[in-house]
Amino acid sequence: MSTRSCTYCNAESVYHRRYSGEYLCSRCFTRSVQRKVARTISRYSMIKHGDRVAVAVSGGKDSLTLLHILSKSAKRHGNELVAITIDEGITGYRDESLRIAREFASMLGIEHITIPYKELFGNTLEEVLKARDEKALRMSSCSICGTFRRRAMDTAAKVADANVLATAHNLDDMLQTFIINISAGDVERIAWMYPEPVEYADGLRKIKPLLEVYEHEIAFYALINDIPFQSEQCPYMNEGIRSSIREFLNTLEQRHAGIKYNMLNSILKVSKVLRDNMEFKRNRCSICSRECSNDDGICSSCMLVIRLDDGSK
Ligand SMILES: [Zn+2]
Ligand SMILES: [Zn+2]
Repeated sequence: MSTRSCTYCNAESVYHRRYSGEYLCSRCFTRSVQRKVARTISRYSMIKHGDRVAVAVSGGKDSLTLLHILSKSAKRHGNELVAITIDEGITGYRDESLRIAREFASMLGIEHITIPYKELFGNTLEEVLKARDEKALRMSSCSICGTFRRRAMDTAAKVADANVLATAHNLDDMLQTFIINISAGDVERIAWMYPEPVEYADGLRKIKPLLEVYEHEIAFYALINDIPFQSEQCPYMNEGIRSSIREFLNTLEQRHAGIKYNMLNSILKVSKVLRDNMEFKRNRCSICSRECSNDDGICSSCMLVIRLDDGSK
């Protein structure tokens, strides 16, 4: 344990930020993370005065930290917050995280809404995965769950009457996603990574206020601010390439402090150029009539329902 004093006050430091050389006490550390998030929000015009912001809360450290940080600034900026949790129906796992999310939101005095998969898609994730196995569909649990969860969050934001949807993707998530898109030859998706929100026809703005914060700093923020979180991993977690990339990046950062930060800055520049040249397609899904950017006129969520139903593709 370090006995050095904080770079900014005389209190004892509890954290050494290797990439900047700062030593921080818990108060200065907490403030520095909050300030960084505030800068991200204003730089990319994520939240405006009077917005009603739905925060997607899973019960993990990132989303509860996001809720905690936004709750500190919401009143000052004239924003209303509402926490939303998607219940995939994963026995045991989701019950605990739901309880943590509900209790933490109530402690912060924030309204909390739960939306079950079953209500939206007619099935729980467990039932969906059973259908996948029966139809021998080659899709990972995370990719199926992610497709349905994104749809569920849009719906939940609407139910909550919010015009902004905030998710807790952090700097590490951004880097992993970038490398995954590069590895898959999916350059178009990099344009979507640029943090300035795209305005959808239905008026929902999607934002990632933690995108400039290291994952391990979020974990430390949660720890020193007594934020309760579920640390148990989803029993269906099967990330494959994502965890290899996470390990690779952590090794790099260990040897070259700050390299993740430099990589993020490059990603922001590259995605900006791609975004500026992106042809933004405004198609409507022929099944659910929501806005979608797919050329075949069926959104990914409806497409997945069809595939699970008839096992095609
Ligand atoms: Zn200090
Ligand atoms: Zn659709």
